[in-house]
Amino acid sequence: MLALAGYPLGLRFRFLDALAEAPAGQLAELVVGDYTDQSLLARFSEGLSLITYEFENVPVAAVAWLAQRLPVYPPPMALEVAQDRVAEKTFFQGLGIPTPPFYPVLTYNDLQDGLERTGWPAMLKTRRLGYDGKGQRLLRSPADLEAAWAALGGQPLILEAFMPFERELSILAVRSTGGQVAFYPLVENHHQGGILRRSRAPAPATPARLQHEAERIARRVLEKLDYVGVLALELFELEGTLWANEMAPRVHNSGHWTLEGAETSQFENHLRALLGLPLGSTAPRGQVAMLNLIGLEPDLARVLAIPGAHLHWYGKEVRPGRKVGHVTLRADTPEELETSLARLEAVL
Ligand code: AMP
Repeated sequence: MLALAGYPLGLRFRFLDALAEAPAGQLAELVVGDYTDQSLLARFSEGLSLITYEFENVPVAAVAWLAQRLPVYPPPMALEVAQDRVAEKTFFQGLGIPTPPFYPVLTYNDLQDGLERTGWPAMLKTRRLGYDGKGQRLLRSPADLEAAWAALGGQPLILEAFMPFERELSILAVRSTGGQVAFYPLVENHHQGGILRRSRAPAPATPARLQHEAERIARRVLEKLDYVGVLALELFELEGTLWANEMAPRVHNSGHWTLEGAETSQFENHLRALLGLPLGSTAPRGQVAMLNLIGLEPDLARVLAIPGAHLHWYGKEVRPGRKVGHVTLRADTPEELETSLARLEAVL
């Protein structure tokens, strides 16, 4: 999607991925191999003007190695912070950004100590490499403890107090090499089984105060990291307050709605930011929803028959629980959007 946004600007691309079947290979040269292989990194970076990444489990060492040779955005420090949930929440708190109370856990004793402070229920998560709800367990009562420890124990973990949030929001922020900053409107996100299923933008019934608060938080993160590119911040809304859950130093799934739903997509603005070009307007174009296609291939004609529907198919093999595409719905009024959403849900 970055390449698709960049070609109209006259940009050219080369991709690096661990897997030969990576969809990016349909669009440009794809270099395949292990991110830790320096000869591969050297071959990949030969002749490039700059590098960006949109996968947050790229080893920091690989990104740092590349950053010594040519510009790499977002800065490797952002990746390093985002890869460890304890470092990330410590970083937020250092900036005065509220997070759920948390405790690092290495041993079963740490877990018991932590639970005395978080109380029940609590969330136990791996510090690293978790995504789409993988590597985490909800602890409702002491009865859940043993199974959770059996599944996750033996690696660095984080225990978090369970936040009885009213809803999950995210904000996409972008900062250019020249320091220009822009924010998209807050997005409301709905997860199913830990996977983002649906986003709605602008988030309905959102007071301007909340948007300002989200922007204030995001701006602090951008400035502290001397950030360049698009950053996504995942937030919980609880009694009118925003709590930071995590950040993604990249274009983000909860920003896919911007492809047709905003004046400038997150992908185009990410590229503009990297190149020091003026950022494009982040204004929404009406009412927008984005639905992920998770482990299913819908009937193309039935989806496209829905007013305001746009389908994005990633060219991946369909597997249960895997995001293989998404549909954006754009409408002029909330009522129109609800009608289209109901039709789309029926098709899916
Ligand atoms: P994460 O991988 O941290 O984004 O967690 C995945 C999902 O689990 C979130 O989108 C929330 O729905 C839920 N979740 C994570 N942490 C907490 C928490 N501390 N309290 C309540 N729900 C949480």
